[in-house]
Amino acid sequence: MSPKQEKHKTPASPENPATTPIPSTLPILALKDTIIFPEFPVPLTVGRKQSIQLVDDVILQNKLIGLVAQRDSSQAEPSGEQLFRIGTIGIIQKFLKHSDGTRRLIVKGIRRIRVLEFIQETPYLIARTEPISETSEQNVEVEAMAKNLQHQVQKMLSLTPMIPEEVGVAFLNISDPGRLADLVAANFLKSTQQRQEILETLELRERLVKVTRWISSEIEILELGSKIQRQVHEEMDEKQREFFLREQLKAIQRELGEKDPLSAQIEELEQKMAQAGMPSEVEKEARREIDRLRNIPPASPEHNVVRTYLDWLIALPWSRETPDRLDIVSARRVLDEDHEDLEKVKERILEYLAVRSLRKETRGPILCFVGPPGTGKTSLGRSIARAMGRKFHRISLGGVRDEAEIRGHRRTYVGALPGRILQGIRKCNSRNPVFMLDEIDKLGQDFRGDPSSALLEVLDPEQNFSFSDHYLDLPFDLSRVMFITTANVLESIPGPLRDRMEVLELPGYSEDQKIRIARNHLVPRQIHENGLRPEQISFTDEALHALIGHYTREAGLRNLERQIAAICRKVARGVAEGRKDPVHVGADRLADFLGPEKYIQEVVERTDRPGVAIGLAWTPFGGEILFIESTRMPGKGGLTLTGQLGEVMRESAQAALSIIRSQAGSLGIDDRTFTTTDLHIHVPAGAIPKDGPSAGVPLLASLASLLLDRPCRPDLAATGEITLRGRILPVGGIKEKILAAHRAGIRTVLLPTRNEKDLVDLPEEIRKDLAFQFVDTVQAALEFILSPSAEKKQAQISKTG
Ligand code: ADP
Repeated sequence: MSPKQEKHKTPASPENPATTPIPSTLPILALKDTIIFPEFPVPLTVGRKQSIQLVDDVILQNKLIGLVAQRDSSQAEPSGEQLFRIGTIGIIQKFLKHSDGTRRLIVKGIRRIRVLEFIQETPYLIARTEPISETSEQNVEVEAMAKNLQHQVQKMLSLTPMIPEEVGVAFLNISDPGRLADLVAANFLKSTQQRQEILETLELRERLVKVTRWISSEIEILELGSKIQRQVHEEMDEKQREFFLREQLKAIQRELGEKDPLSAQIEELEQKMAQAGMPSEVEKEARREIDRLRNIPPASPEHNVVRTYLDWLIALPWSRETPDRLDIVSARRVLDEDHEDLEKVKERILEYLAVRSLRKETRGPILCFVGPPGTGKTSLGRSIARAMGRKFHRISLGGVRDEAEIRGHRRTYVGALPGRILQGIRKCNSRNPVFMLDEIDKLGQDFRGDPSSALLEVLDPEQNFSFSDHYLDLPFDLSRVMFITTANVLESIPGPLRDRMEVLELPGYSEDQKIRIARNHLVPRQIHENGLRPEQISFTDEALHALIGHYTREAGLRNLERQIAAICRKVARGVAEGRKDPVHVGADRLADFLGPEKYIQEVVERTDRPGVAIGLAWTPFGGEILFIESTRMPGKGGLTLTGQLGEVMRESAQAALSIIRSQAGSLGIDDRTFTTTDLHIHVPAGAIPKDGPSAGVPLLASLASLLLDRPCRPDLAATGEITLRGRILPVGGIKEKILAAHRAGIRTVLLPTRNEKDLVDLPEEIRKDLAFQFVDTVQAALEFILSPSAEKKQAQISKTG
């Protein structure tokens, strides 16, 4: 609706409200979304059938018409009930029949009316009405309010440039505050509800207040809008200015013969790319990225992303590699220099080198070093790299759960980078390093994907010539890398990975081996690392023995090396403080350097009572000896087991008891014992969980020893699984277990016969130091383990005597 207003003047009859006689009944025209205020002519289009008939009739009569808005503008043919109660009486000033059938009118409002009741609904509405007189008390306050409203209107007009200037002039010329409020409402209030409310507000002051309030909030909205618009304009200007300045800068640089930084950067990238030795596929991709870089302004974050990616493409050693030293003799020398013993492993490495020297393109085997910590797995890897003249890189897989750690994140991630394999390769700057994957047995797996399947792709010679990293998104050839993995436990390496690797075991060292390694490697290295000279410090053999036996208990050499380092540090401090004479570290000085002994040889002392037997356990940290203690008390034949025993070990204990009960007669145990006694088996070091079937024999020995009151032989340890029928079955981890027994000062080891084959790889001196007894049956085992009974001893004494 765009009402036109006329200059306010007193019109001649019949439009003059004062003089127009108001009939008491009026035909009522329902208005949609339109409110007509007194004294202003408004154009209307009438299209509804009802309404057309109405205006056609009215135009033939007095031209007076009631104009009332409908409450709900969606109503097509509203009844009287659906109209507001207050409207306007108007007079049709102009009337036109349009070719489309509608009627175009100009109606001018005369005054407000109230609808009292509808007296006709069809063909159109007729109602009884009464004119409303407005309270138009003019006072200073009202005048001031009107002035203020006029001021607001000017402001409004200044914010809406579409409205012609004359409109403003018209507003200024209205002197009647009531008319002013009406005109403002008609022109500037957006909602029909608000306009109707103004129509219904008869009290002048109140009407002015309402109109002013609403108009003010309209103004606020408009002001906010124009502020935003201004800002947008300003930003646009800023951008344009920057662009302009940049272009100018470029022009100046051209003039001076300089390059702009971006082109300089791109030129540098192109140069580096040419030297990177990329395969053609990679080079193509790199070129595409460089082209992209040209079109991205350096300030945009995208620029950096592309730049980092290109840096990676350029930095990776696509074809750089170190030449292999394949001279077997010198390789042998390097390996021997770095490591004592480990014959089998060294042999295998030399074989590999020999094959490589004959046939260049052989794919390397994937070696897997398995053994307890500190047995030289990592240092062997380093040594292999040194022997072959290759770079060395090591990553630890312990706790890696996310596939992305191996294979990287896709470039769409913020801050994405390649995985650890390619990071390592980049660091080596060579595509054929010795790459060590430590702790492959500790690889995790969870919802972030399975890192072992990514590793499979890394290690599989059928696939790894085109390893795909998520970040790089281009194949990288890993086939020349020599992968070595390490693990403490073979069993926890995922099966498919294990299948691809050649396992070399490093079970741990005997005491003699440790002494030799300490002499030849650990001590010289620690002397050097602590800034000492060889003549300033020396260790006696006894001291090294004592360090191994009383200060460490391990299969490997880590703690031994640490203790040696601690002594060297203390000596270094003395030297730094001015000490001149050399230090000879003997066994008697160890307590001064390291405090009291940590491990005491307890074997003999603990096994002198009946009921204590020694077993051998296998752990990821090497072998361990286990004391198994049984005790009895009056009771009803119950069996208690303590010391964090696993399910399998508990079952072994039950089986051991059943065997003893079933053979009580032949063993010489009174049957009644089992109903009058409760038995308790405890395996100390209770915090360490223990499990496995191999404690069967020592459990049996412990119970038999207790019930027969015959102690076990003091320096004997046993391992083996038992069956209820009294057979003894072979068990695993023999090498580690025997080394542990040897460390603990055991002299005799009892083993299942079928484990005899496992002794071949044992170091010579261990075989010399230890006696082995092989058994198949429970009877034979007990006969050997238990010391002779009192009567037997007596019999023997009397025989010899
Ligand atoms: P792992 O990786 O198996 O845990 P390390 O390689 O860290 O063990 O070895 C621990 C220390 O023992 C290293 O300083 C290593 O040089 C030394 N070492 C291990 N085995 C030997 C050996 N056979 N000869 C010489 N030094 C050894």
